[in-house]
Amino acid sequence: MLKVENLSKSFGDKKVLENINFEVNKGDIAIITGPSGVGKTTLIRCLSSLEKYDSGKIEISERREEKQYPVGLVFQGFNLFPHLSALENITFPLIKVKKHSKEKAEKQAKELLASLGLEGLEESYEYQLSGGQKQRVAIARALALNPEYLCFDEPTSALDSELREDVGEMLRGIAKKGTGVIVITHDKIFAEKYATKLYELGEQLELRNS
Ligand code: ATP
Repeated sequence: MLKVENLSKSFGDKKVLENINFEVNKGDIAIITGPSGVGKTTLIRCLSSLEKYDSGKIEISERREEKQYPVGLVFQGFNLFPHLSALENITFPLIKVKKHSKEKAEKQAKELLASLGLEGLEESYEYQLSGGQKQRVAIARALALNPEYLCFDEPTSALDSELREDVGEMLRGIAKKGTGVIVITHDKIFAEKYATKLYELGEQLELRNS
């Protein structure tokens, strides 16, 4: 379980998150909606260690497999490395972070790309990929580090609406394999349909249903 207790974060004098509490289990799809500027992105940046928080606790109770990454993040704009191919976008963290050999990293990256329906696009660069394909490469890159929990920042916002269902099914697949999924979105219809736990961030983070 990923447990957040009394998490608070300010930028200067501006309090963005105040005493936030929530819990996510592996296999959950926890979706957090809420108005613009309320701190959703800040929250998942804190969860994925990209932002320091001022007080409170973020704890993962399960025992970690060796070298397993606690919390990954798929960025809203995907943040692919434009000078690297789809395959290299995935092998890069495997070689740099997990210290895999090039051969092992390439084997794993090819399997991940295939599992997300991207066979044949290994050598493509970002500018040659559609929005949905870029997102899948970004997801494959995040999954390569085998995170226990994976956060998604607005996963439907950069895509045509007909791809919304594909994203939802992809999230279900990831959760089913045992990763805890945490999503922030403005898309209430998507949230209602795919959340196993639906939260709304306002003054507080409130559980709407589960
Ligand atoms: P949106 O839905 O529009 O993306 P959000 O709920 O994700 O909004 P955040 O991006 O987390 O909100 O921002 C919350 C508040 O914190 C905003 O007022 C924002 O200006 C402020 N903020 C975020 N990052 C920083 C930063 N690095 N320095 C200063 N202020 C910041």
